Amino acid sequence: MENSTIAAIATPGGRGGIGIIKISGSKALSIAAAIFSPAVSHASTHSDRSGSAKNMFADGFKSHQLYYGNIIDPGSRRALDEVLLSVMKGPGSYTREDVVEINAHGGQIAVHAILELVLRQGARMAEPGEFTKRAFLNGRIDLTQAEAVIDIINARTDKSLRVAAAQVHGTLSEPVEKIRQCLIELLTRTEAAIDFPDEVGEIIDAAAVTLEIEATVIKPLQRLIQQHADGNVLRDGLKVAVVGRPNVGKSSLLNCLVKKERVIVTAMPGTTRDTIEESFNVNGFPIVLADTAGLHDTHDPIETIGIEKAIENVKGADLVLLLIEGNRSLTGDDLKIFEQFRSKPKIVVINKIDLVDSDHFVEIPADWASTKSVSVSALYDRGMESLKELIVATAFGENSIDIEDGIVPNLRQKLLLDDSLEASLAIRRELNNGHPMELIAIQLQDAIDALGQILGTTVKVDVLDQIFSQFCIGK
Ligand code: GDP
Repeated sequence: MENSTIAAIATPGGRGGIGIIKISGSKALSIAAAIFSPAVSHASTHSDRSGSAKNMFADGFKSHQLYYGNIIDPGSRRALDEVLLSVMKGPGSYTREDVVEINAHGGQIAVHAILELVLRQGARMAEPGEFTKRAFLNGRIDLTQAEAVIDIINARTDKSLRVAAAQVHGTLSEPVEKIRQCLIELLTRTEAAIDFPDEVGEIIDAAAVTLEIEATVIKPLQRLIQQHADGNVLRDGLKVAVVGRPNVGKSSLLNCLVKKERVIVTAMPGTTRDTIEESFNVNGFPIVLADTAGLHDTHDPIETIGIEKAIENVKGADLVLLLIEGNRSLTGDDLKIFEQFRSKPKIVVINKIDLVDSDHFVEIPADWASTKSVSVSALYDRGMESLKELIVATAFGENSIDIEDGIVPNLRQKLLLDDSLEASLAIRRELNNGHPMELIAIQLQDAIDALGQILGTTVKVDVLDQIFSQFCIGK
């Protein structure tokens, strides 16, 4: 196991009330002792404001205590900042190593100067997620809990935060470990059956084991896989694409929904050439909204690129908002766009109702009838609440996502659950067909290994690197 001491700035860049420098590893305490001078005399030490407190604190730091004092450059004896220093000795720390956190004044100069000093004392810069990686490698958390830490950092809404926070406490590991233990127990019996071929029938009752595997492995795996699909929306947001021919008001609608003036709105058709993404949330459901280049026939090469990108983007969306103008008849482009996305879940948004009078209200074709519609005015902020409610109702239906138990596997975990399920289904088939126990043992091992990779017990190094590289530095 690597035992170098790592350090990083744990707070975001820019100005702030405090900035935190985090140090973890065997040298954390001695580094702190070399650069920290307590501001008040301590029972076992003498305060020395002019110099470092070298050798006074290295053994004397008490765990889980805050110390108030100054960071002093031992070379120049210059005081860099007045700080609070917290000490958490391993194994009672986040990484299970000795950890020191220096709470300095926020602002780039002070925290960077202190970090530089810490590095000069023998620490090295931490890589992204390295503190959490150490917590995992040192056995404090399993891999699902480490991954949940990233989700907490990236949580978009209160609901997604709750799922991630529950997962940090092992809500996913628990059922996965339970299924894995059932499979391990079955493997032990299978191996016994291989060793004692005359007693196979007594050791493994195929019919009973089939029922057992169904109830304790297959069904729970299927449930977890389903929860991935539901929870994905909470984690990544429901992807909603806004489509419509130029000038129907797509950019205005986007601005109105997210209440920002990010998208350029002009009266010139075809202005929104690129795809712009914005997010907001409705009743805790994160929605990612993509405004797209006006979809229509064009010979302008730049616009064509924008339109191709838009179509690509819409294909990946969970829900399409098809925008039309309420104050005039549909055009061929409107009908073409509807056809293009006929198979997608969608809502027809009738815009510009402020310009509508009883004689000029757009006529909706009969075969659009099954698509829900809502009337709005993007310019005057009318109908937005109805639209938001319709988005949530159309996307999530009556059955709002149940995330109360907080189990939402991510894509990596879901693919491994798929592998485990596939092997388990094969086991059930092979048991029924009376296949040799050796074959069943191989499938059982595959099903167990896939679950082990979720928990991190059998995970490969490159997979670990890939997971932790998604973290920010300092976590
Ligand atoms: P896009 O090309 O589809 O993105 O359309 P824009 O959002 O750029 O809007 C085109 C024009 O329609 C602009 O002049 C907007 O001010 C106007 N517009 C958009 N929504 C409404 C609306 O609800 N009512 C009225 N009266 N004008 C609107």
